[in-house]
Formats: sequence, structure tokens, C-alpha cells
Amino acid sequence: AKAQVYDKDAPKRVTFKDVAGLEEAKVEVMEIVDFLRKPEKYRDLGAKIPKGALLVGPPGTGKTLLAKAVAGEANVPFLSISGSDFVEMFVGVGASRVRDLFEQAKQKAPCIVFIDEIDAIGRARGKNAGFSGNDERENTLNQLLTEMDGFQTNSGVIVLAATNRVDILDKALMRAGRFDRQIDVGLPDVHERAEIFAVHMRNLKLDKEIDRDFLARQTPGFSGADIANVCNEAALIAARHDKKSIGRDDFMSAIDRIVGGLEKRNMPMT
Ligand code: ATP
Repeated sequence: AKAQVYDKDAPKRVTFKDVAGLEEAKVEVMEIVDFLRKPEKYRDLGAKIPKGALLVGPPGTGKTLLAKAVAGEANVPFLSISGSDFVEMFVGVGASRVRDLFEQAKQKAPCIVFIDEIDAIGRARGKNAGFSGNDERENTLNQLLTEMDGFQTNSGVIVLAATNRVDILDKALMRAGRFDRQIDVGLPDVHERAEIFAVHMRNLKLDKEIDRDFLARQTPGFSGADIANVCNEAALIAARHDKKSIGRDDFMSAIDRIVGGLEKRNMPMT
């Protein structure tokens, strides 16, 4: 698969309005938006614009969404690839795909390159020796390091990468001039959950009595992705009962279903 390119003029451009909560992370990425919008401001001062930042946090907390919003706010193309695409790859394919990605990025600059699940390629080298495919992963990682070093600062390419396992990443990735910034994206608190409900309720037909704060209190430990799921599940349940609008009981049934899923997900593997 080639890197996906989202048309910057696509009607469904993601912006900060689509990202609820994550206030601190937004402040940090706002600076990246500014780099992309006004590179000359930095260039004139002789400042080096960072090449990359790591978005760190549990699954479903909005890392991909935030990266897309950076591209959307700066109105630049978004090129993305996932580390998991690189597992079980034939020799040489991973490295050449990384090369292609950066080739495209340089042509489309200014742009955002997003690498999801970077831990799949960026695990510390020299571990798991003998594990099949390991050498190929190392080739891919080495190519990524080469590319990060190869393009100029201030070239207009900014690489964002997401992981929930920063602890296992090869430290070479975090060296100056590579992913030398870390932006934490955590699970939402009760107020942030209410805001995430608000975002995902925008297009839903709701009963008047629906209380987002109440729903936020019923969903401790839920990620943004879980809440998006609850909202859609509630709509499906309401439709199943031929309702004209979605009620509190539909949300409660949806929450029960998602909690069931979460419990399964957290069950230790034996
Ligand atoms: P993963 O690590 O699993 O790739 P992620 O952190 O990249 O997860 P996203 O893919 O950005 O998570 O989130 C999945 C979906 O969950 C988003 O498309 C969005 O619908 C919803 N979502 C997650 N976080 C938020 C948020 N803070 N505000 C609004 N919606 C959110």
C-alpha cells in the first residue's frame, strides 16, 4: 500500500474543533501549525524548525485525529503510513516504502507525514534477535533514521509519529533533529469526556433530556474512540427500535455493550 494522501481541499478537513479536550497537546501542536503556516517567520530569525514530534498515549485517545487536525489547520496535505503495515514484509520492501513516503513528502511540502504505531518499526534494535523479520524491521528503521537526517530543517516536512509504547522505542529516534519532542495524549477526564460526547453528538438526533455530563460520569476509563463508539451504537440501538430520536436508555445500553467489550479487551491472555 502506498502512503495515503488526503486532499487538503477535501470537504471533511479535520480541524481543532473536531478534537475535544487535549488542551495541552493542542497548545503544543499549535506551534507546529504556525511553523507550517509561516515558515519565513522562523527562517528570518535563523530558528530551526523541529522535524518531528512523537504523540504518546493509549489507543483511541485522538493521536491520529490530532495529527490530521494539524494538517487541516495549516491547510497542508497529510501523508500517513502505519508501522503495522511493515510487519512481515519482504526484504527491502519496508525501506523502499519509507523512501517513497519521504520522496512524496518532499514533493508535497509543506505537509505533514504521519507514522502511526511507530513502535512496530521503531522498537529498540538488537532485541529479539532471531525473531523472523527482525532484520527487515531494522532495515526499515535505519531507512527512517536516514530519511529524518536527510531532509533539511525548514524544508516544510514535519513528521508526527504515534505510539503507546514510548518505553520500547529505539532511543536513536528521539535524538536531536529527529523526534525530539514528545506530546502526551492521555485518557480524557470526566469534563473532557463530556466534550468528546458533544463532538460526536453534533450530527445525532437526540431526545431533549440527554445530559452529556451524566453520560461522562457513566464512562470512566473510556477513550475518545470508545465514546465515538457509544454514540454510534446508541444511534443504531434507537434505529433498531424505530425511534425518531436517541434516548438516555439507548446510550445506557450502548455503554453496557462497550463496557462488555472493554472488559474482554482487558482480560489477561492465558
Ligand atoms: P490508536 O493509537 O488506536 O491509533 P489514536 O490515539 O490514533 O488511536 P484516533 O484514531 O485519533 O486515536 O481516534 C479514533 C477516533 O476516536 C477518532 O476518529 C474520533 O472519532 C474519536 N476520538 C478520539 N479522541 C477524540 C477526541 N479527543 N475528541 C474527539 N474525538 C475523539
